[in-house]
Amino acid sequence: MSADSATVASPLVKVRAEIARACRTVGRDPASVTLVAIAKTFGAKAIEPVIAAGQKVFGENRVQEAAAKWPALTARHPGLELHLVGSLQSNKTREAVALFDAIHSVDRESLAAALAKEIAREGRKPTLFVEVNTGAEPQKAGVLPEETDAFIARCREQHGLAIAGLMCIPPVDEAPAPHFALTAKIARRNRLPLLSMGMSADFTTAIELGATHVRVGTAIFGARKSE
Ligand SMILES: *Cc1c(COP(=O)(O)O)cnc(C)c1O
Repeated sequence: MSADSATVASPLVKVRAEIARACRTVGRDPASVTLVAIAKTFGAKAIEPVIAAGQKVFGENRVQEAAAKWPALTARHPGLELHLVGSLQSNKTREAVALFDAIHSVDRESLAAALAKEIAREGRKPTLFVEVNTGAEPQKAGVLPEETDAFIARCREQHGLAIAGLMCIPPVDEAPAPHFALTAKIARRNRLPLLSMGMSADFTTAIELGATHVRVGTAIFGARKSE
């Protein structure tokens, strides 16, 4: 196989085509959707070809793993954007604010306070998403839907945080569409322009319901061995 046909056949190209098709279905501009390539568990060897294929926005779910992997990659490839999509422990806030361009997992008041402090100290302003636990799953992070309006208001008024959007991870055993629709509705009434929703299995549905950021790992990198 030539290098060209390998590129054409690449999973990244396929994901981009599916994003464009979903956008056409609902009359959206494909440029209104940011593909966040979730690289967790994969090393530089797997990530480099995806960068070479033109992907600029990447996501990780752990601060430690990202801190070990990305400084070398971003030094070699200026202009990359790095997003944190997993839970953030308060004691890793400083490192996270220094490393990430966006944080998708603002989910509690203590974290909002810690983020506000580190954002002021570092002079960096990562794009912030509040994570909503749309399925009210006890084991899952995120603010309950009925508490989200008040939480956003406290982030804004008490901590001076510029919240830009909402993020959700629907329950694995349920149809995702109602969860995406609920997240979009809460975002609308709080005048939040960004929606981080949709993963490998459901990103086209998420786009049809307004996603501005889709977080796609497996469909780009293949199956993960472990997490
Ligand atoms: C791993 C992960 C993804 C990507 O999931 P895939 O099914 O591999 O596309 C998206 N969002 C979050 C928060 C993740 O942890």
